[in-house]
Amino acid sequence: MKINIIKSEYCDFCSGVKRSVNIARDSSKTEKVHTLGPIIHNPQVVDELKSAGIIPVDDIEKISGIRTILIRSHGITLEQESRLKEKGLNVIDATCPKVKKTHKIARDISDRHGMVIIIGAKSHPEVKGILSRAKEKGVVISSPEEAALMEDFEDAGVLVQTTFRSEKFFEIINVLARKSKVLEIYNTICEETVLRQNELKSIAGRVDLLIIVGGKNSSNTKRLYELGSEIVETYHIEVPEDINYSWLADREKVGIVSGASTPKSIIKKIEEKLELYNKKNLKKEVA
Ligand code: SF4
Repeated sequence: MKINIIKSEYCDFCSGVKRSVNIARDSSKTEKVHTLGPIIHNPQVVDELKSAGIIPVDDIEKISGIRTILIRSHGITLEQESRLKEKGLNVIDATCPKVKKTHKIARDISDRHGMVIIIGAKSHPEVKGILSRAKEKGVVISSPEEAALMEDFEDAGVLVQTTFRSEKFFEIINVLARKSKVLEIYNTICEETVLRQNELKSIAGRVDLLIIVGGKNSSNTKRLYELGSEIVETYHIEVPEDINYSWLADREKVGIVSGASTPKSIIKKIEEKLELYNKKNLKKEVA
């Protein structure tokens, strides 16, 4: 049986990732550029960029012999910012403007309220960056259960990681609203995240199998996988080689959705691998 492929229209880098990769590529034309952490959560792209002179470094303290450092789209913490200044490095700030906006909101909330609640993954660099701008008033939570465990509070402001799941955000807000007298809410989920999630839900409802493409270390891709798995059989892959043809037996429609740090070139190769399956299958049927 031939499978029909339904591809999300958002199969490419998000605008923030595209911008930071372009800045890195442009800068690397004149000098070697180091990035604080991999520029995006996609090992294949990171490897490709290394050969263009864009090299990730993990620890500021271990930096030596480096002149130029690029801040990736997730942004960095205030402490990291100060350390880079102290070290006298040439800093290229490629933080996504929408992430920068969340930094400003965290600072504003912290000036006006007793607590800054950040909804997101504690270990994610974007969340760490926001938390550092909330000064000592920041608290990070990631589920309605964690919100329910919080003590009642007088007043707070709340914002959210740009790639968080929309419906989960509203569930958490519902719990927080019952705990406080004053709660100022900033829905800082990026509109591109919402479009991706909505498109995924629409495709997942129409296919027999869903393929999510993105780095295994990408938190927005993991969230898409979570969302897809609630609706239909879903696989999370990084490269075409991860596709197992046995998944496709007796399927009519297969959906493809990508994370915010997956380039178009990988999606194209995945489509080619699925088309190859169709060709092989048709040959078998004819024989
Ligand atoms: S998901 Fe949105 S906020 Fe996050 S890097 Fe991409 S464009 Fe920026």
